[in-house]
Amino acid sequence: MKKFFIQTFGCQMNVYDSDRLHATLATRGWAPTDKIETADLVILNTCSVREKATEKVFSHLGKINKLKKKYNLEMKIAVIGCVAKELGKVVRHRAPYVDYVFGPQSWHLLLGALENTPTLCDTGNYRLDKFKDLATVKTQAVSAFISIQEGCDNVCTYCIVPFTREREFSRDFDTVMKEVDQVVSNGAREIVFLGQNVNNYKDENGKNLADLIRATAKIELVKRIRYVTSYPTYLTDELIDLFGSEPKVMPFLNLPIQAGSNAVLKKMNRHYTREDYFAIIDKIKKVNPNVVVSSDLIVGFCGETEEDFQDTMDAAKRVPFLVSYSFKYSPRPHTPAQKAFKDDVNPKDKAERLKRLQDLLHRIQKDFNQACIGKTVEVLIDQDKGAGVFRGRSPYMQNVKIDTDKEGLLGEVVSVKIKDASSFLLYGELA
Ligand code: SF4
Repeated sequence: MKKFFIQTFGCQMNVYDSDRLHATLATRGWAPTDKIETADLVILNTCSVREKATEKVFSHLGKINKLKKKYNLEMKIAVIGCVAKELGKVVRHRAPYVDYVFGPQSWHLLLGALENTPTLCDTGNYRLDKFKDLATVKTQAVSAFISIQEGCDNVCTYCIVPFTREREFSRDFDTVMKEVDQVVSNGAREIVFLGQNVNNYKDENGKNLADLIRATAKIELVKRIRYVTSYPTYLTDELIDLFGSEPKVMPFLNLPIQAGSNAVLKKMNRHYTREDYFAIIDKIKKVNPNVVVSSDLIVGFCGETEEDFQDTMDAAKRVPFLVSYSFKYSPRPHTPAQKAFKDDVNPKDKAERLKRLQDLLHRIQKDFNQACIGKTVEVLIDQDKGAGVFRGRSPYMQNVKIDTDKEGLLGEVVSVKIKDASSFLLYGELA
């Protein structure tokens, strides 16, 4: 049996794509291997959201080519995902030993190409076609991620996604619900709906994310529902109400603000002000005061002053942001910012601001975690580490470790009395 090895970079959307490709290859006589040198096919599923990410791909390809020369000259190499889309044929110019190049909306073509085409580069946008012949993910993962919406019609000036994943499209409601049923029958107890603008999901019959959530919540075995990534202005009252009315919707929302300064938000072409953003947060907390918000934050965007950066720090304290991601701005090809703005914040200031912001986010997370000591938290167990050690997640995406002599807790929601906490982990025992 021929073997394949998949390496995935970047966001959960890429992980989802790799899992579907994995499941589909397995139905076509291929077997997965975690030893790259034994593979007949090596697939890199790539991310180009930051400059470093693109260069990382070529250093990986160089290493793979060395293994190919040493162990298996017949090995096929495929580059899929956003770097493939960003660079297209350039991938093979820089790495001529790469056989296949497919974008995030065309990697399904690899399946046919493996049967009859020695090399192929096609980064077209096949939208929903991509999903047609894909097998469902067979893993018994307790948390299942399901892509429901892809692409983006917004044009944030720093972002390469509109170029790499192109225009927005939503998958059909019934198809998505069929996939929900399949992953639940495979053991999933938490459903995480994915999209670049997941809260803008709407299928051809007008079904939206709230409809998907309500239908999924009716499935008895489903214990938790989450969705990521949301765009602030697409958060409807209908979705906000579900934080109060549907107990399976976890009180945790990823809602990227990106920056705290109105001047920077305007330059980023984000369609809201900091005041608009805070008003959305206040609305959510009125419906359910326990909701926790996570964000993505960029420091050092073109023209950002120390005052602008202070607005970002204030926003992080005001909301406050937990479980958040923060980055230094790096110009990306095919983006309005790269064409129109000077990358004028010097690297030293970018690094220093990022450090200050990450120290603050770290402190906020630590305080939040330590405030859980002595409390009882509902934990969905998603890992059995053996020897009586289980891992799971709280409703607030906190990692929780418990030691117990109980068995068979995988997929169960258990009450855990928190005994200790660090910035990254809560320790507890069954209540
Ligand atoms: S909303 Fe903005 S940041 Fe998000 S994917 Fe679209 S363009 Fe990128």
